[in-house]
Amino acid sequence: MRYISTRGQAPALSFEEVVLTGMASDGGLYVPETVPQLSYEELADMAGCSYAEIAFRVMKPYVGGEIDDETFRGIVRDAYRTFSHDAVVPLNQLDANHYLLELFHGPTLAFKDVALQLLGRLLDHFLAKRGERAVIMGATSGDTGSAAIEGCRHCDNLDIFILHPHERVSEVQRRQMTSVLADNVFNIAIEGNFDDAQAMVKASFADQSFLNGTRLVAVNSINWARIMAQIVYYVASAVALGAPHRKVSFCVPSANFGNVFAGYMAYRMGLPVERFVIATNANDILHRTLADNDFSKRDLVATLAPSMDIVVSSNFERLLFEAYQRDGKAVAELLERFQDEPTALAEAPLSRLRECFASHSVDDATILEVIREAHQRTQEILDPHTATGYRAAERERGDESVPMITLATAHPAKFAEAVVKAGFPGVPLPPHMEDLLEREERYTVLPAELSAVQAFVAENRR
Ligand SMILES: *Cc1c(COP(=O)(O)O)cnc(C)c1O
Repeated sequence: MRYISTRGQAPALSFEEVVLTGMASDGGLYVPETVPQLSYEELADMAGCSYAEIAFRVMKPYVGGEIDDETFRGIVRDAYRTFSHDAVVPLNQLDANHYLLELFHGPTLAFKDVALQLLGRLLDHFLAKRGERAVIMGATSGDTGSAAIEGCRHCDNLDIFILHPHERVSEVQRRQMTSVLADNVFNIAIEGNFDDAQAMVKASFADQSFLNGTRLVAVNSINWARIMAQIVYYVASAVALGAPHRKVSFCVPSANFGNVFAGYMAYRMGLPVERFVIATNANDILHRTLADNDFSKRDLVATLAPSMDIVVSSNFERLLFEAYQRDGKAVAELLERFQDEPTALAEAPLSRLRECFASHSVDDATILEVIREAHQRTQEILDPHTATGYRAAERERGDESVPMITLATAHPAKFAEAVVKAGFPGVPLPPHMEDLLEREERYTVLPAELSAVQAFVAENRR
């Protein structure tokens, strides 16, 4: 399998290269050159298979023979053994035909574990094969950092440096990162805000000379392997509810669009999907684009669903590439205009998107109302991100005879603030994390200065 850029200018890469590379050199994102197909029989054959087996079958064509089957099966099995539920991503029935897909049974209690448990292992495999080492750098305000650290803590060939804004992430989120005491894990608390941390990571990718030739790898959701890993749970949950013999719909709490784009890929591979509902919080660029063709930036709003607080959805570019029928030039032009001014999609691509996507935006007051209402009706306590999905799924359900699967992207204990605001006493952490608040922490506080951060990375990498 070859991978091409959404902006049409960068060289095509192999799977191994695409996993080790972040953004394409033309500023675009890599996508597979062709979409592998899952036949009706292949889907039907997955009924009753383990999650790891379905994962192997769905991802195999993307790997394109670059890892032998036995080794890849082992990598997949190890990645999903870290989940605390035997189903890995269990379905939980909410009403006659509405289901929650619980994606939060991984080590850090949010769906990002599904992709990052695999990505860390894939990186380590390819680096070992090449006899190379690499450094991972990332900035986080929460979920991504801890999931990346958990995904890399056992990797011999990787050192990971995660920057978070000092005293500006929740205690649970900080401790999920800083209580991992592995030799290759470095937490840096920046005396500044998230944007300062992110700017330093970006600058480090732009000029990597401080690493003297060691490769710097990004694990944010522009990495193709993250999307690939997320395709699997769309297929697995649909098959569990009767696909390919019947259709399902999905509702996805969305921010950078990586998650719902993976669902779209499952659909393009042949999974029968009726519609995708995109749920957003008050940062509603995706909803404004689909509903009103208002593709423009707005100021960031801090909400009760902080992992969905974004101004721009980076992975939306991958969907635009498909909507514009893979015209990289048109995508590049649109996105260059979008950087500077409010813009709109052309008519034909927009109507293509509206054929399979609906959207709904949910404000903070509604998030609290939904947490209470869902509890009254189902006894479930939803996390605030999942709450946006629950409401969007109900409002944009469409044909009620089609099962609706809402993706539960985080465990409610991880976002206790919203749950308490909704009037509940809080949610206990699951057993494997009960002692989180007593665990030893390790992190280094640094000033928001690029030279200080780069010196720390250069000195401490192994
Ligand atoms: C990252 C995250 C999201 C948003 O996912 P995208 O792939 O960026 O659309 C939603 N909910 C939670 C809990 C997250 O951590």
